[in-house]
Amino acid sequence: MREGVLKRIRSCITYGMTVILLVLTVMNAVVSVKADPVPDGWDSTHSKYYAAGKMVTGAKKIEGFWYYFDKDTGEAVKDGFQEIKKKKKTKTCYYDSEGHAVSGEVQIGKYWYYFAPKTYAMTVKDFVKMEDGRTCYFNKKGRRVRGEKKIGKYWYYFDRTTGAMTVSAKIEIPGKDKTCYYDRKGRRRENYRSEGKWYTFNETTGKLKQTVITIDAGHQRNANTSHEPIGPGAGSTKAKVTGGAQGVATRKDEYVLTLEIAKLLQKELESRGFKVKLTRTSHDVNLSNSQRAKKANKANSSAYVILHADADGASSSGAHTICNTSSNPFSGSRYAVNKQLATKVINAYVKATGFRKIGVIERDDLSGLNWSKVPTCFLEMGFLSNPSEDRAMSNAAMQKKMAKGIADGVEAFVRAQKYQK
Ligand SMILES: [Zn+2]
Repeated sequence: MREGVLKRIRSCITYGMTVILLVLTVMNAVVSVKADPVPDGWDSTHSKYYAAGKMVTGAKKIEGFWYYFDKDTGEAVKDGFQEIKKKKKTKTCYYDSEGHAVSGEVQIGKYWYYFAPKTYAMTVKDFVKMEDGRTCYFNKKGRRVRGEKKIGKYWYYFDRTTGAMTVSAKIEIPGKDKTCYYDRKGRRRENYRSEGKWYTFNETTGKLKQTVITIDAGHQRNANTSHEPIGPGAGSTKAKVTGGAQGVATRKDEYVLTLEIAKLLQKELESRGFKVKLTRTSHDVNLSNSQRAKKANKANSSAYVILHADADGASSSGAHTICNTSSNPFSGSRYAVNKQLATKVINAYVKATGFRKIGVIERDDLSGLNWSKVPTCFLEMGFLSNPSEDRAMSNAAMQKKMAKGIADGVEAFVRAQKYQK
């Protein structure tokens, strides 16, 4: 009996303890569910974040860093780009291996990117001025560009290593065998002035040359009435070079007047830093209008100005320039540029001389215009058939004004043509 009693007591104690343990376990479980369902803050893998018992999604700033938590899974974006839409705007951010949004200039894979310091937004299709003075450009994918790039209307050059834009400098383009000049805004210039000289960048040859202006003193002592085609490959022909007019008061021949002005214009343009070529420097030449235009072409002239004087009635007066029409089969494609030259020259010429402005006339029957492949216009300086205009055009003071006016027009044209298309 003793043993039996002891056994029962033992089993009772064991049973009781088991029950107590069970109760305690259940209680503990209940308590833990109530008091700590999910911890506020990071989960154990540091990839999800909880606030007020809820899993955070979207962009959130935590202890000074911006994170982005996936809208569905709540996983923080790490080592990746994320597009973020806010109202109507969309920005792209990048998160590093710790999930922190990055800012500043950052290399990701092969490319450099730029993320704005405050918004962390990736710069797209825009220039950024860096703290070290470099100006860089980031393309539509946000990548820093290098080498020659056309952005909008202009060409730029970005260093192949640093991405720095070339500013106010003349540089040799690696691998291209050409030298280009970039202005203070980084834009590549076709014409530019440096140390008192005008330079032209030739895209074909890649050479920088002094800007050439060719001037044709219209006519010559003896006309050459044999014919030549009015343009390259043209069926219709015209006299190679005609005799020209004569001043009714001065009896000065047109070919004499045109050379007087051409020489003064040469001096004036040279004083402004241009290189000037005259198609003729004496009266005893035999040069057709197409040959003269070819001289201008060969010199890669930035402008070719053909000087003439008009003859009509005694009461006719004024000056005009001539350019081709847009439908000219030989030079139609250069209509805009020729019209610009013709406009600049006539405006500056009448301003300097006070002559009546007839304006710009468009014609396609002039061999000099049709054979030219460079910016070209005729200038009819005034009427030799008008006694007072004839005398005025031979007056020394007026001749200086005429030369200055034409030079003003040419220089205004060159300035306007400064950017490469
Ligand atoms: Zn003439």
